[in-house]
Amino acid sequence: MDTTAPAIESLDTDTLREVDRCDACNARAYVQVTFSGFRSLLFCGHHFAAGEVKLRATALDITDERWKLALSETQRNKVTA
Ligand SMILES: [Zn+2]
Repeated sequence: MDTTAPAIESLDTDTLREVDRCDACNARAYVQVTFSGFRSLLFCGHHFAAGEVKLRATALDITDERWKLALSETQRNKVTA
């Protein structure tokens, strides 16, 4: 077996964990915004949406995992079906 072949890395990024919390409200974070100096802030879907225009204008990088919000219920149903 060829172990050098790259694993089928997730099509989805999976950077943010359940322990990652929104810096504004402490809900689960779904977006990580990195600024120059590699400082970063975490946002729930609600607070990222609230500041999205400003954040996109100033961020170096944005990890947006809000797809989890849409898929989690469907995937949970698939797993348990
Ligand atoms: Zn929040």
